Amino acid sequence: MSSDRRAAPRSLLTPTAGGSHELMRDGLKLQELTVDELRFNVRHSARRKTMQITVERDGELVLSAPPEVGEAALRTFVLEKRFWIYTKLAEKDRLQREVPRKTFVSGEGFLYLGRSYRLKRLDDQDVPLKLAAGRFCLRLDALPAAREHFIRWYGERARVWLSARVADYRSRMEVAPAGVKVQDLGFRWGSCGKGDWLYFHWKTILLPARIAEYVVVHEMAHLHEPHHTPAFWLRVERAMPDYAQRRAWLAEHGIDVEGL
Ligand SMILES: [Zn+2]
Repeated sequence: MSSDRRAAPRSLLTPTAGGSHELMRDGLKLQELTVDELRFNVRHSARRKTMQITVERDGELVLSAPPEVGEAALRTFVLEKRFWIYTKLAEKDRLQREVPRKTFVSGEGFLYLGRSYRLKRLDDQDVPLKLAAGRFCLRLDALPAAREHFIRWYGERARVWLSARVADYRSRMEVAPAGVKVQDLGFRWGSCGKGDWLYFHWKTILLPARIAEYVVVHEMAHLHEPHHTPAFWLRVERAMPDYAQRRAWLAEHGIDVEGL
């Protein structure tokens, strides 16, 4: 991913690993410098008094330096800044992976239990938003608050659906949760809290049913075992023998489920 992008040849001046290459252009000394797998465009400028590294939008690395700074000093500077550079590159990767925000145009797809339903905008209907005949139908006057309407719709469905799954598993898993609360849990799918309440992110209802069911079983197992100990996973496995596949799916694809 990011390493592919950084490794892509940008010019014929690309040096071999660890090397550097210079030429004069427009009176500026241009140079490329490679340190480990990081490749920098070096820009020497008489106006600069100090060295600086910039991570461009596309992940390109630019090292700016005063004219007199030699390769050894550039390398030392890069090595000192290496942690910062990797942090920045990781941030760029994460941002580029982020699912684009919804615009609520007709035809746009919205997930519900793992299936995508297209949006249809209507002049008039009895409620602001509903799922009918395989379409999410959004009333036009609800458009400015479309995101809130979707979150409320998902939250209501999630509470009903997740409560039913909890009921399916409660005797089998020998737990007595107080009930289900659905809210925005940030990066977590679920948690269990004081008084044996089970909390789920409203986005859980966007997951395929079998994956959302795993989230339920996972949280219910926490009512016995607060931490991810071997005893915890054993309990999950007893309730859901193929949990590992579902867990792997969630780890790999869960991030793509974002997006409203
Ligand atoms: Zn857990």
